[in-house]
Amino acid sequence: MSKKKIKNPWDQCKNCLPAKCCTYFSVEIDAPETRKDHEAMLWQIAHKGVSIYIYRKAWYLMVDTVCGFLTPENKCAIYETRPYICREHSIETCEYTGDDYGFTEHFKSYDDLMAWIRENTNFRFKVQPNRDVPAKSTVRPLQAATA
Ligand code: SF4
Ligand code: SF4
Repeated sequence: MSKKKIKNPWDQCKNCLPAKCCTYFSVEIDAPETRKDHEAMLWQIAHKGVSIYIYRKAWYLMVDTVCGFLTPENKCAIYETRPYICREHSIETCEYTGDDYGFTEHFKSYDDLMAWIRENTNFRFKVQPNRDVPAKSTVRPLQAATA
């Protein structure tokens, strides 16, 4: 992962609005194997705010949703007692400074995943008439947002 030079880490957080690291979470999921697995994954990604990525051969479900403890001032309301996940988060390689997370794939939509399934498996799913699913995957690795 490439990094930007950080002069004052806390200036960086002040400029990160809203705090990118507090606006989503991701969990590892089983890699899909069967037709049912793939179809279930298509159903999951059909939900708004859900994306799926592959990192080092492991699959993850990512949900864009703001933590309930992020205040309107962009601060953590439980900073002293925040969970270990937040404590271990590195400001130097965070979502704001990283340019590329090195994901093998990042499916940001139903159509992204459908295109990947078509290219990489023998499973075929019917497409709703009048819906245009790209023949080739347009998936790109995550590009972290910059200032
Ligand atoms: S993503 Fe990085 S810069 Fe933004 S609030 Fe989190 S630690 Fe700070
Ligand atoms: S607990 Fe605090 S630091 Fe952790 S995600 Fe929520 S707002 Fe951010």
